[in-house]
Amino acid sequence: MSRTEISTIGEFGLIDHINKYVKIENETTKKGIGDDAAVLSMKSESDRMLVSTDLMLEGIHFDLTYFPLKHLGYKAAMANFSDIYAMNAYPTQLTVSIGISKRFAIEDVEEFYAGVLLACQRHNVDLVGGDTSSSLTGFTISMTCIGMAKEDEITYRSGAKPTDLICVSGNLGAAYMGLQLLEREKSILSQNTDPQIEVQPDFAGKEYIIGRQLKPEARRDIIDALKKEGIKPTSMIDISDEMVSDVFQICKESGVGCRIFEEKIPIDYETASMAEEFNMNLTTAALHGGDDYELLFTVPVTLHEKINNIKDVKVIGYITDKEEGKMLQTRDGGCFDLKSQAWVNVNS
Ligand code: ADP
Ligand code: MG
Repeated sequence: MSRTEISTIGEFGLIDHINKYVKIENETTKKGIGDDAAVLSMKSESDRMLVSTDLMLEGIHFDLTYFPLKHLGYKAAMANFSDIYAMNAYPTQLTVSIGISKRFAIEDVEEFYAGVLLACQRHNVDLVGGDTSSSLTGFTISMTCIGMAKEDEITYRSGAKPTDLICVSGNLGAAYMGLQLLEREKSILSQNTDPQIEVQPDFAGKEYIIGRQLKPEARRDIIDALKKEGIKPTSMIDISDEMVSDVFQICKESGVGCRIFEEKIPIDYETASMAEEFNMNLTTAALHGGDDYELLFTVPVTLHEKINNIKDVKVIGYITDKEEGKMLQTRDGGCFDLKSQAWVNVNS
């Protein structure tokens, strides 16, 4: 691939170049890239604006040895959209700031933005600005996402009540197992010092978990489905770090406890077989792995049937009084404090 130093067109040239690919889709975007600030409007008086920011550093949040820049742009944007969906709102605008060291050429930045813009296009979000700087230490990304919602539709972490059902979309642990596999292949490649031997990573039959790590999808479809069923969750969070700490956030903000059933946790077949290959406890991978970008939410128990109508949503437990703690009921009927991780030893 050709490589053009960024210095040949400079920062302004680079922004102009990116801006050529930007299309504005939302009527609330009055001015995007090109002035000192973007200008946005609200659709109606009762709308509220939601703002969420993420920072991603090379070597901390991502490893470019196996993470293609296009995927990185896509994933970073998805992570931001996911935070807005987790408020039961829709993302509408995005700003993207990048720090880039000399290692990166115009073509690399193009790749990154191709991923960002693909994500934007799929979720109807406008790229409206950002900032660009050179960096001494690799690639740095900061994104800010703007979203809109009617005030009474916004869902906070604080509304869960005892007896509410705990629901989760999709399945858990797949992105984490995908990461384990990528890390393993990376270490195999780096151990091979013989230039005569060409080592090829073997991902056959593992496409799903790799995909979950490299190109996660924010769950706009779940927000649509909830609205269609007329359900407003009592609380919601997106699972970006680890599911357990996200449930804990809801419990903390709502002042409640929870009971999760191990057998109800949705896990894909590929995740399970990879965990077995790595000799890892599957429930640990699902509860403590990261990067799932699924939605975890609570609804009143009376909505059980309506929730069953939503494809790809599973009930995994219920909310309890705070005094009952945060518990995991294991497959064999044992009951453990989620925090203690004592259950890991029980089942492995
Ligand atoms: P300022 O000096 O006020 O920061 P810039 O010259 O950095 O302005 O930016 C000019 C325009 O280009 C602004 O609209 C800004 O939002 C946009 N912009 C700058 N960097 C990026 C980027 N990395 N991605 C998207 N838009 C950018
Ligand atoms: Mg600037």
